[in-house]
Amino acid sequence: MHETRPPADQPDDAFEPADELTPYPAGLILRGRRVVVVGGGQVAQRRVPTLLAVGADVVVVSPHVTPAIEGLGAEITWHQRPFEPADLEGAWYVLAATDSAEVNEAISVAAEERRIFCVRSDDGSRASAWTPAVGRYDGVTVAVLSNREPRRSAAVRDAVVEGLREGSIGARTERTHSPGVTLVGGGPGDPELITVAGRKALMEADVVVADRLAPRELLAELPADVELIDVAKLPRGRSAAQEEINRVIVDHALAGKRVARFKGGDNFVFGRGYEEIIACREAGVPVTVIPGLTSPVSVPGLAGIPVTHRGVTHEFTVISGHLPPGHPESLTNWTAVAQLHGTLVLMMAVENAPAIASALLAGGRDASTPVAVVCDGSMPTERTVLATLGTLEKVLETEAVRPPAIIVVGEVVRVAHPQAF
Ligand code: SAH
Repeated sequence: MHETRPPADQPDDAFEPADELTPYPAGLILRGRRVVVVGGGQVAQRRVPTLLAVGADVVVVSPHVTPAIEGLGAEITWHQRPFEPADLEGAWYVLAATDSAEVNEAISVAAEERRIFCVRSDDGSRASAWTPAVGRYDGVTVAVLSNREPRRSAAVRDAVVEGLREGSIGARTERTHSPGVTLVGGGPGDPELITVAGRKALMEADVVVADRLAPRELLAELPADVELIDVAKLPRGRSAAQEEINRVIVDHALAGKRVARFKGGDNFVFGRGYEEIIACREAGVPVTVIPGLTSPVSVPGLAGIPVTHRGVTHEFTVISGHLPPGHPESLTNWTAVAQLHGTLVLMMAVENAPAIASALLAGGRDASTPVAVVCDGSMPTERTVLATLGTLEKVLETEAVRPPAIIVVGEVVRVAHPQAF
């Protein structure tokens, strides 16, 4: 059990700790109020940023502080010396977070005399306030207090925040209903790889307009009353389909709905996201953009291939390979690309990879240049196929590579796979 009596050599007259302490929860509004943090170690380092985040006027008293606290510079007032009771003048709240029980006790006694609530890092039974485990989600602050079982508090906090995030705890009931369109980048496919903001926008939408490459598993988590429009199933040709998508998102937003336009990766990377923005703008529909982890960087990353590496490359170039070199509509100068020295990341390029490899070789790239083809990045079927520019065509055929795949060309592939080349 917890020690509830102070050690004999410490003053006992300041306040009387009870056996089972039950805290009274309160949300302190600390903006502009002086909060004194005594101590400059790990505890202070964890607490000071959260105090600053709510606008407190933070005074740190400690002969030494961690580099992270020192790095806060003018955001805090740092008195570089031991604690003096006078430090508490004008304070509303005190954290006794030194590594000395004796000093912490002196701080809590001084605080008690001045009727200032005081948190202690060493002994909650001698404190007049406890720090809860805190989480925030969508304007809700979750604060959990237990009878001095910090791990249990943290676990409960995590469960509640996770529940809010997933929608299993009813945060949806009070959501804001301002209509409009949010472009949501879903990342490369694994539902863990969407941003927190992206997941929230999806779960709060009235209508989700999803693409073929959008992370499918996330759609299964949508609340039952969300309308899901799968534009991968839209018939007709490509440009007509885009017009239809523009019409669908604009019409739903004009009808007062919150529309999430959900795509794989990032909506602005070969995702036609800006065409949708223009359509919304023309119709007077407000649009928000939530970027996603884009596949030309994240898919090689998942496969352990860095797109840059110090001393190896100072550039990476992302190119769509959906049109072969020399195609009248191609906007890429492959001769110029061949002369670049850095990493090339080719997207939508499986079909045209042989023609692209030929163009790069013709432009002067070495046939031994390493190539990695990463298929189905972040999915259970993910695999990496290695080749060189000279062998790429054959390897793609023998390995039966199918889209989606990211093709990485350059020395970074050798960095990741030194044995293979
Ligand atoms: N907006 C997306 C890209 C759309 S273009 C993004 O930012 O990632 C589609 C191409 O992206 C595919 O042909 C493939 O080259 C690449 N791609 C997207 N997701 C991928 C994945 N999980 N694995 C491999 N390649 C992927």
